[in-house]
Amino acid sequence: MQNNPVNTDLPLFCPRKDCVCYQSYDNKITKDGIYITKSDSKPRQMFFCHGGGHRFSETGYSELFGKHGSFKEYEQAAKLSSYGLSPDAIADVLGRDVRTVEQWLKALGHKGQRMHLFLCLSVGISILFLQMDELWSYIKNKSRQLWVFIALESETKFWICFELGSRTNSTAYRLVKGLKKLGKWGHDHILKVTTDKLAAYKNALSKLMGDVKYSYLQIVKRRVKRRLVTVKKFFVKGAAKDFPGKTQNTSFIERLNNTLRQHVSYLQRKTLGYCKNKANFSIIMWINLFNYNYIQFHKSLRVRVNDNKEKFVRQFEHNTPAMKIGLTNSQLNWRFMIIAPIPRK
Ligand SMILES: [Zn+2]
Repeated sequence: MQNNPVNTDLPLFCPRKDCVCYQSYDNKITKDGIYITKSDSKPRQMFFCHGGGHRFSETGYSELFGKHGSFKEYEQAAKLSSYGLSPDAIADVLGRDVRTVEQWLKALGHKGQRMHLFLCLSVGISILFLQMDELWSYIKNKSRQLWVFIALESETKFWICFELGSRTNSTAYRLVKGLKKLGKWGHDHILKVTTDKLAAYKNALSKLMGDVKYSYLQIVKRRVKRRLVTVKKFFVKGAAKDFPGKTQNTSFIERLNNTLRQHVSYLQRKTLGYCKNKANFSIIMWINLFNYNYIQFHKSLRVRVNDNKEKFVRQFEHNTPAMKIGLTNSQLNWRFMIIAPIPRK
């Protein structure tokens, strides 16, 4: 692939499950012309699988193959979803059936998840400063509370992973287990961790991070009628000196929480649109994670490259969290995400 924006090779493979060469790298794949579909005027790339003796489309690398939309529509659905629109609203904007849009979002969410896990595992991420937090939502009509647990690498603003579940040990356990698997754990530095006072994090960390050196600070905020009254710090592991500079806080993850409340329709307060099931919720979260980490520039990650304030001279270099943590070397886009050859497990 020319100008590969991700920091690992992405060799082509055959994505057809019924092929003898399915996902084998020991197979020759060559470009084999382009084609136009009824729903898309933009040409799509065809490939030839030599081992199986058949052609396949570049959309075969996602579940969007044969889903009757154009790349533009897929991209619009992904973008609108990451602006906080519900599938119903997106279907209305695009003039499509809601079931069609739900299928597209499902395909996009699955591919986003697959690609995120693949890149983290094959390139590797160093987690230096971990912040974890949880947000509430509901499933169905306020009949059941559902919590979203999220983990953030604070130095790079990289959103590592999330878990949906109850506000208990088991959800925190799954969250820590997930991030433990994704991170590279060297012994040259001590991991910093900050969370709120929920005991589940402490339990999960001591159970799963026994072989990782870490210091852990709990920030306990007391609110009366939503007004912040006191902030207390408890050094569970380590001491104040382990948290230098402006690191004695959970503010980065709270900022991400805010972003998510605005960008995930199911997390908006006082909404009528609570999610009907957990699987759909997870799909929307994966689309948002992909958008946040790989596609959007993060304002606090820009670097000044020019000091003179002349017009038409570039002042800043912009970064996505994925660029900062070393997974990619430029901003990704939705089309690239759809056609990137990422194997299924
Ligand atoms: Zn094949």
